[in-house]
Amino acid sequence: MSGRVYLVGAGPGDPGLLTLRAREILGFADVVLCDQLVGPEIRAMVTGELIDVGKVGGGPQVPQEETERLLVELAGAGRTVVRLKGGDPFVFGRGGEEAQVCERHGIAYEVVPGVTAGIAGPAAAGIPVTQRGMALGVAFVTGRDSDGNPPDLEALARFPGTLVFYMGVKGLPDIAAGLVAGGRPANEPCAIVERGTLPGQRVVRGTLADIADLAAREGVKAPAVTVIGAVADLDLVTRGPLAGRTIAVTRARPQASALAKRLRELGASVVEAPAIRIEPIEAALPEIAGFDLLCLTSPNGVRRLFELVRDARSLAGPRIAAIGPGTAAALRAHGIEADVVPERSVAEGLVTALEGVEVERALIVRGEDGRDVLPDALRKRGAAVELVAVYRTVPEPLSTEQRAAALAADDLVFASASAARAFHAAAGTLAGPRIVSIGPATSEAIRALGFEPALEAADHTPDGLVAALLTSA
Ligand code: SAH
Repeated sequence: MSGRVYLVGAGPGDPGLLTLRAREILGFADVVLCDQLVGPEIRAMVTGELIDVGKVGGGPQVPQEETERLLVELAGAGRTVVRLKGGDPFVFGRGGEEAQVCERHGIAYEVVPGVTAGIAGPAAAGIPVTQRGMALGVAFVTGRDSDGNPPDLEALARFPGTLVFYMGVKGLPDIAAGLVAGGRPANEPCAIVERGTLPGQRVVRGTLADIADLAAREGVKAPAVTVIGAVADLDLVTRGPLAGRTIAVTRARPQASALAKRLRELGASVVEAPAIRIEPIEAALPEIAGFDLLCLTSPNGVRRLFELVRDARSLAGPRIAAIGPGTAAALRAHGIEADVVPERSVAEGLVTALEGVEVERALIVRGEDGRDVLPDALRKRGAAVELVAVYRTVPEPLSTEQRAAALAADDLVFASASAARAFHAAAGTLAGPRIVSIGPATSEAIRALGFEPALEAADHTPDGLVAALLTSA
C-alpha cells in the first residue's frame, strides 16, 4: 500500500510560527524532505529521517524532478513522507506542482499551510500589508518568472494596493524603475525585509527612487521580501527591550529552549547552538538514610536522583541543600522543600550557607565534571563526603550553519564551564560576539580558553543571565 505525503509549510523561520499541525506531523513522519530555508530548531523536531533537498552546503539545488521522484518513490514504498518548505507550500513553493504529482500517481496527500514570508516578514518589521485608508489589497508577486523574466510591471503599477515581491533582490533596480514608468510615484515608500523573523533580521527603508541603491549599498541578500506602497512607511512593532539583538545560547537543548523562549519574549532573535548534551550515568546510590546532608547542585542532578531512588521515604532523613533556585524548584516539583538554598548560586555560596551547620556524613549528587569546592570544604570540616556522579555533559556536534550563526550573533551566552569548553571545541574560537557568562566558574573556563567575558551575571542563574543581558541592552 502506498504511504501518504504531507506538503507542509514551515513558516518564515521563527520556530514559534510553525503550525501545531506541522509540529505534530514532524513528530510521526518516516521521512522529511527539507528545504534549505528551514532552520535548525524546526529540523530538530524531526524524529524520522531528514533528507536535504535544498541547496546542500552552498552547492546546487536538488533538481525539482529529483525531489518529485523521491516523493513518489518513498510514498510508493509505503512510507509517510513530509515535504517541508519555507513559508507556505502553495505560495511560490511549487507545492501545487507536487500535489499534482501525487494526484497523477494516486498518492494520498495533505496540505498544511504555513505563515508566508510575504506577510510575516513585513509584520516583523512593523508593516501591515493591508490597512484601512492606505491599502485595500495586497498582491504577492515573484520578482522573476520561471524563465528569469520580470513580471508585467505596467499592470502591477496599476494594482490598487500593496505589492510584496518575493525573490526580488537581484531584479530590484528593474522592478522599481518599471513601476515608476508604469505610473507609481517615485517617492512611494518601500521596505526590504531581509531574513524576516530570523536571527539577523534587517529592514532597509526607502522609496521607489532610491530603494535599489540602498539595497546595493547595504548588501541586501536573499531571503528578502520587498514591500511597496503607503504601508511600507509604518513601523508598528512594539519592540521588546532586546529587539534587534541576536543572542546565541549554547546550553543543552531542553534548557536552551527555556532560556531561548524567555529571550524571544523580550524581543531578541535567538540562535540555539546546543554545544552539550546531558547523558545519564547508571550510578548506584548509597543508603541515603545514613547521611545527615544531601547536596544537589543542579536541576539535572535532581531529575536523575528521582530516577535512581527506589523509595522516596529514604530522603526523609538528611538535611537537603540545593545550589540555585532552579535546583530548588526541581526538588519542589517532587514534593521536597530544600532546607538550605544559598543566596549565591555557586558551590562557594553553599559552603558559606552551611557554616555553623553540623555535618558528619554528606552525600553530593551531581554531574561527573563537578568542581571540588564543596566536597573539599566539607571534608576540611571533618565530614565524611561521598560523591555520586549521576550524569555527564558530553559535547554535541554543531552544524556549520549553527557555528556560523552563533559566532555572528551579538551575544554568545554560556551557562556552564562545560558548555564554553564544548562550544570552543566545536567552533574553534569564541571570537566575534560579546561573551556573556553565568558566573565565576564559567568565566574562569572562558579565560582558560583565551577569551574574556564582556559580562558576568551578578546572580548566577538563567534569570541572572537574562537580567545581565537586559542591563546591557
Ligand atoms: N513558500 C515561501 C516562499 C518561497 S520562495 C513562503 O511562502 O514564504 C523564496 C522567497 O521567499 C525568498 O526569495 C524570499 O523572497 C522569501 N522569503 C522566504 N523566507 C523569508 C524570510 N524569512 N524573510 C524574507 N523573505 C523570505
